[in-house]
Amino acid sequence: MSTKRDYYEILGVGKESNVDEIKKAYRKLALKYHPDRNKDADAEDKFKEISEAYAVLSDSEKRAQYDRFGHAGIDGQYSTEDIFRSANFGDIFRDLGINFGFGGGGFGDIFNAFFGGGRSSGSSGPERGRDIRHDITITLEDAYKGLETEIHVSRNERCDACGGSGAKPGSKPVTCTTCNGRGQVQHVRQTMFGQMAQIGTCPKCRGEGKIIEQPCEGCRGRGSVTKRRTIEVKIPPGVESGMHLRLAGEGEAGVKGGSSGHLYVIIAVKPHPMFKRDGTGLYTQIDVPFPQMALGAEVEVPTIDGAEKLKIPQGTKTGTVLTLSGKGMPRLNSGFKGDLHVQVNVDVPDKVTKEQRELLKSLADTMNVDVKPKRLFG
Ligand SMILES: [Zn+2]
Ligand SMILES: [Zn+2]
Repeated sequence: MSTKRDYYEILGVGKESNVDEIKKAYRKLALKYHPDRNKDADAEDKFKEISEAYAVLSDSEKRAQYDRFGHAGIDGQYSTEDIFRSANFGDIFRDLGINFGFGGGGFGDIFNAFFGGGRSSGSSGPERGRDIRHDITITLEDAYKGLETEIHVSRNERCDACGGSGAKPGSKPVTCTTCNGRGQVQHVRQTMFGQMAQIGTCPKCRGEGKIIEQPCEGCRGRGSVTKRRTIEVKIPPGVESGMHLRLAGEGEAGVKGGSSGHLYVIIAVKPHPMFKRDGTGLYTQIDVPFPQMALGAEVEVPTIDGAEKLKIPQGTKTGTVLTLSGKGMPRLNSGFKGDLHVQVNVDVPDKVTKEQRELLKSLADTMNVDVKPKRLFG
């Protein structure tokens, strides 16, 4: 595949030719090189070559890519399977009356005919275990202080009884006689290109190359067992929603000596009834009675870490935001803490006592404001 010819040249069409012309050219060549009709030794290769050229040039996106970057634009972008997926070979072959004796001539048939078997490339090597995801919801207080907790996960672990082999202790898996341990077998089959040798997964051992004659009773031959585990998790101060912890090797066991997967703990921080968070900043609101706003005071405000004193300066307007520095959230993996921003609003009582009413009236008088509600009726 290293010295590929130009796709247009292969089909014998010009660069400006339209889809119909490309299709027409391909049909003509397909008839000529189809291995059913052409018994030349290189007919099959030729057929693959024209089919690839057609698959690319009949797809506007791939064609544009090829026009700009040549073969590099295709080979670097698409797998062989992707190249062939978009082209509608089935229709063409049906039109041509080519009988291919299997399937419907759709993409899968074409692809298999070209490249044999499935995509599994003999799965007998070590395989890494799967990763596990575990979601955990914590409070804002937990995110502030950090948290050590336990989570429970179910995962596949290597069977201790058989050491992962799947064979009953004392017995051993035996080499598959069908494939002689290779896990793959060759079969010759009749395809639209004539007889083709295909490599496929061994049906007897399913590609394992070995057969377990006496399965382990602990795992019924699987080599692994599902176990529920309690795992300690340490969540550091300062975490935010969406962050995750990666516990290396705490995922599912690998197969045939492959390493274990990882455990990902995805963190969500619950909204807090009193504090809003933005990074390391915390935001809250308090209501302060008018005399304290007017004359100044020291009041208690809630923080994520207990009550703190906050100085209200004389003449503070409602809506003013006062800051308690260092009373916000910690920054992950650092000693830094953000600020707590407190919006102070004037607290207007729903009800006043008789005495308070008189005092407020006199206050209004001294301020030259009228407090008598206007009588709307009567
Ligand atoms: Zn076992
Ligand atoms: Zn086999």
